[in-house]
Amino acid sequence: MSMEKVKDFVASNSNQLAFLDQLYSLLRQKSISAQNDGVEECAKLVMEMMNEIGITTKLIDTDGHPVVYGELINPENTFTLLIYGHYDVQPPEPLEKWVSNPFEPEIRDGRIYARGAGDNKGQLLAQLLGVKTYLETIGELPINLKFVFEGEEEIGSIHLASFVEKHKELLKADLVYTSDGSLHESGSPIVLLGVRGMLAIELEAKGADRDNHSGNKGNIVPNPVWKLIDLLQTMRDKEGNVLIEGFYDNILPLSDYETELLKKIPFDAKSVGEKIGYPQLHMNGETYYQKLIMEPTFNICGIESGYTGEGVKTIIPSTARVKLDIRLVVDQDPMDIFNKIKSHVSEHAPDVKVTYLGSMQPSRTNAELKVVQTVVHAVQQAYETEPLIQPGMGGSLPNYVWTKLLELPSVIVPYANFDQGNHSPNENIKIKNFLNGVICTAHVIDALGKSANRNS
Ligand SMILES: [Zn+2]
Repeated sequence: MSMEKVKDFVASNSNQLAFLDQLYSLLRQKSISAQNDGVEECAKLVMEMMNEIGITTKLIDTDGHPVVYGELINPENTFTLLIYGHYDVQPPEPLEKWVSNPFEPEIRDGRIYARGAGDNKGQLLAQLLGVKTYLETIGELPINLKFVFEGEEEIGSIHLASFVEKHKELLKADLVYTSDGSLHESGSPIVLLGVRGMLAIELEAKGADRDNHSGNKGNIVPNPVWKLIDLLQTMRDKEGNVLIEGFYDNILPLSDYETELLKKIPFDAKSVGEKIGYPQLHMNGETYYQKLIMEPTFNICGIESGYTGEGVKTIIPSTARVKLDIRLVVDQDPMDIFNKIKSHVSEHAPDVKVTYLGSMQPSRTNAELKVVQTVVHAVQQAYETEPLIQPGMGGSLPNYVWTKLLELPSVIVPYANFDQGNHSPNENIKIKNFLNGVICTAHVIDALGKSANRNS
């Protein structure tokens, strides 16, 4: 079997040493986007590493940190895979919590400790080394590759959408492939197919022009807190259903297959309950994942008014503010939901001010697509175990730039261990996970090539 060659190559001691050596130089190069420390230098280092493999690269400016773009194209190939990752890292603080220097990698118990080890340099390099391994063991690539490595993921990918919008032609592809995040808690490999979107808003109610004495003016001036509470109760019922007209209109139902996938994801209510500080958690896995991944939320994330200090201050507050972050699922559109909320408010409490604070579109790739199944099969071959397939995740990432702006399917196949400590002190990646990532990338390339050639 030709793919055995890949595993043998990665198993070789001298190759492993060379791989680790390269990872070390990448980890030593700071690239803290939030502090603009070393970012450009790191971009250049990534380019050098790509050039060595034979990838044609260029640095593309954005209004922030640059994107490292690369490609490896053979006009005879019919399929193009766009690989996405990020070379920037989170700030390392608090430094005193690190056992070793965050920018001087150290191996302890089979793990490489350094800022960026898991998020995302270890995974990004595993992708590149997967390409190198393929070229050195099997030979020419059966598909075209394009690479987008951005330098602003850790500050919210603020220029990614405009970058993608501006370079649609350059980024033409058939599938987008991301390796970021962690394997499932159980250690099982996982293929993620979507994210929830988000809309953040603020509602502000006004009463009198100033705070008033609650006795001397009680029942005379309106209380804006009650105004907000009354309004909020017209927006959501006691069971949690959102009452804003049309809120649920565009939600795409789950297919039977996706429902089956949810049932297969391991879930331990007790362990999850303990981890989130809510031991009362009682639900089965299917409900848990259904609610977490496939349903929107209507969350109050902050509320403020009046006096909440020590003792009592008997006032009628003049203003009340509430902030909501509303997670959205495919195909709810943040601006459409915002407009629906605005008309709801203008009907029920016309003098309450609605302010838009930010949003991100939801995104989901159909699990039944052939190309998704090809990737799932490749991951299975690489790890020699069946991966979990999760049709979405609770959080929000700018995955829509691929699925909505480029209209491409997008799969996320994380390589890092669950306890990678990303964003925390003592971030790490297990050497085994790093090497498995190399193997996995080569398998994905091979499987997509075989599938494309069968079709043509
Ligand atoms: Zn991160």
